[in-house]
Amino acid sequence: MRVIFLGPPGGGKGTQADFIAKKYDIPKLSTGDLLRESVAKETSLGKEAKGYMNRGELVPDAVVIGLVEEKLASPECQKGFLLDGFPRTVTQADQLSTFLESTGEGLDRVVYFSLSKNEIIRRISGRRSCPECKAVYHLESVPPKREGVCDVCGKSLVQRNDDKPETIESRLSVYQEQTAPLIEYYKTRNILSELDGAGLVSAVQDRLVALLAQPRVE
Ligand code: AMP
Repeated sequence: MRVIFLGPPGGGKGTQADFIAKKYDIPKLSTGDLLRESVAKETSLGKEAKGYMNRGELVPDAVVIGLVEEKLASPECQKGFLLDGFPRTVTQADQLSTFLESTGEGLDRVVYFSLSKNEIIRRISGRRSCPECKAVYHLESVPPKREGVCDVCGKSLVQRNDDKPETIESRLSVYQEQTAPLIEYYKTRNILSELDGAGLVSAVQDRLVALLAQPRVE
């Protein structure tokens, strides 16, 4: 399976991607995770990306495309992959399609997570994560057992820098301007499936599993 999860920040892509990658035994490539890892390790790529990320802007295409192509060329991606948060611009989508053509592979499906703006803001502002094991929580809908502490590894939970209120609006407008055009882009290629991203994690998961089991509507 070669699939893309497309949708607004806070739309639940990452949470569902973890589950689907395990279920289908394919690697999940999250450009957000890869970039945060580079920032934490203070690599030169991380140093370049950090400012853009903290401002809620997109990291330049060339940086992200290089990162993804390197991963896609690795042996573990030969059996399939799940891209979470990439592509985010038309340039990235064009480059991805050129890259996949060169390998003789195509995409099976793009799942578009749709969600209202109010729900996106509610999800992002309540999101907390573990800096150690990367487990993700939500203050209201998926709270940890002990307030502020990771259930899995006991570390203190943190709020992502770019989840702070002052950055959310800019991420949403970047999404509208640069990423939302990909909905039409993939629709015209008959590869888009829309998923209602509202509701409990388990409900979205059930809808997603059912959707992936269906043949694509051409
Ligand atoms: P995410 O975890 O997917 O919400 O990504 C966090 C941040 O990483 C984004 O706000 C961007 O600054 C950066 N980022 C992640 N994926 C991409 C991408 N495909 N293109 C450009 N920037 C990205």
